[in-house]
Amino acid sequence: MVRRISISLFLLIPVVGITTDVDHLPSALGIPQAIRPAHSFVFLLVSVGLVLLLTRRADLGAGVLTGFLGHLSVDTGLFPAFSPFSFAYFNLGSYRGYFVAGSILASLLAGYLALRRLRSEGA
Ligand SMILES: [Zn+2]
Repeated sequence: MVRRISISLFLLIPVVGITTDVDHLPSALGIPQAIRPAHSFVFLLVSVGLVLLLTRRADLGAGVLTGFLGHLSVDTGLFPAFSPFSFAYFNLGSYRGYFVAGSILASLLAGYLALRRLRSEGA
């Protein structure tokens, strides 16, 4: 049996997990910033939607979800969850377990979808 790995998925998940904090960059550079837009469920929906639209690969959409939820599970817990529609911060720290579980489930889904895609391509 030959194990297959989706390199794009393997790289995407940690890249999303790390780059979610890029929205800290303006404040680190001294640029006034009212909100952290990447820590929002609206941003997540737009990101997953764009990935699905541009790549037509459901495994990559699930990979974005995996990285995002993984990031939220280790972050401060204080997020503008509905930015840019609401700039209110919500303390979601008590939901970390759900973020971890969601990230694990999304990663399993991403792996399943990637394997199914690779098999259908005959790779
Ligand atoms: Zn963060």
